[in-house]
Amino acid sequence: MLKINQIWNNILLETEAKVSTLAYDLYINSLQPVGIYRDRLILLAETRALKNIVEKNYKEVIKKCTNVVFPSILDVEVITEDDLPNVGKVEKEVEIPVSSSYVAIVEDKAVFVSQYTFDNFVVGKSNEYAEAVARAVAENPGTKYNPVFLWGGVGLGKTHLMHAIGNSLQRNYPEKKIMYVTCDQFVNEFIESLHDTTNANAMKNFRNKYRKLDVLMMDDVQFLANKEGTQEEMFHTFNELYLANKQIILSSDRPPKEIKIEERLKTRFATGVIADIQPPDLETRIAILQKKCNAKGYSLNIKVLSLIAEKITNNIREMEGMLNRIISYSTLVGGNPNDMSIVNDALRDYADASNDIITIDHVVTATCEHFRVKREDLIGKKKNKEIVVPRQICIYLICDILGQSVPLVSIGEYFGGRDHTTVMHARDKISEECKNNDITASHVKDIRDRIYNR
Ligand code: ADP
Ligand code: MG
Repeated sequence: MLKINQIWNNILLETEAKVSTLAYDLYINSLQPVGIYRDRLILLAETRALKNIVEKNYKEVIKKCTNVVFPSILDVEVITEDDLPNVGKVEKEVEIPVSSSYVAIVEDKAVFVSQYTFDNFVVGKSNEYAEAVARAVAENPGTKYNPVFLWGGVGLGKTHLMHAIGNSLQRNYPEKKIMYVTCDQFVNEFIESLHDTTNANAMKNFRNKYRKLDVLMMDDVQFLANKEGTQEEMFHTFNELYLANKQIILSSDRPPKEIKIEERLKTRFATGVIADIQPPDLETRIAILQKKCNAKGYSLNIKVLSLIAEKITNNIREMEGMLNRIISYSTLVGGNPNDMSIVNDALRDYADASNDIITIDHVVTATCEHFRVKREDLIGKKKNKEIVVPRQICIYLICDILGQSVPLVSIGEYFGGRDHTTVMHARDKISEECKNNDITASHVKDIRDRIYNR
């Protein structure tokens, strides 16, 4: 039996690889699965506007992805709260066949994005070493290279390679226990087990889960910084696996020595193979775009692809975003995506790739623009409602967009020396409101659009 949330999570994984990050975050990931009605998956959109956007632009892709994973679900329906009474009795838990090409679905088994394979990974000078190491490990886990430490900038293919290893291992070694986990997930699970008062075995279960694996992959280990408890846990997990010759694969946006973690863990992370991934050269970037076009069924000519590859040099996810934008724009206006004037229109307000890193300043500026308030007021002491609400929304967005890269304390400092608990309060309050209050949700969405379209 699979719960509706498990079903939806697997569909999300499949969808994430097919649409732009922005569309995924803004529209698809905000849908809630209601249940299954006959052969139909029912999804709830928070607002009518969201429902319309999804129906118009993303329903087909969601339907396709659903069908890839769960062949018996034939249709997808997006509804809002108002429609709920008219939906028949939905199933929240179903016995459902899973597509045979889609391996992992059982809760405790890792789930890998089916598109993230070695075949779909374009190799160039910038990533050939990392790719070779990844292939070697996928063929013979736990032997030669242990641990493997992959590092490189955002959007350069670390997660793709880890999933490629996972996909390959699951096919060649179906008996092995393989786990892929993001560092955040590991941290959260650890903390939950620590505080779980309802289950005396929570910590034991957590340890068993991670220490009895054949292969552990942990993505984005830089987020272990400042988490002493979890670092200690990871240290013991690492030792146990390592001493038993079990394969460990880690990824990070920086090399081990630059991660702010305890020394002994740093040393462990660096004892095996360290492979970096650099931004790909122009030919490789074009080849990647061609691959993505094939996968998504777009036919764009080399001129357009070169234009994208020239504009964006150091983040492949961004390149895909631009590609998707050209396609969706041309579909919207009914034009030819190979027509340069259409392409230029589509890219008119696309930010120059070089300043594409979002900072607190960007979020603050976008919030001020949206609410038409002064910057010094937003980050200052005023307490009237007209300024408090924008300030809270701004803080929420900073936490949400920049995530753990910015500690709450620094956000507090930025906002006129406020305490980190004030930051937390604002973040949690708006996070809740986004779920129940259309007005807040739409402010948040508008500011987000503004930030990403700057
Ligand atoms: P990271 O984890 O390093 O931030 P991802 O693995 O999420 O980056 O990659 C971002 C996007 O770029 C993914 O859609 C991935 O498929 C694609 N990508 C990255 N490198 C390559 C490559 N060499 N060939 C094909 N696609 C790639
Ligand atoms: Mg990643």
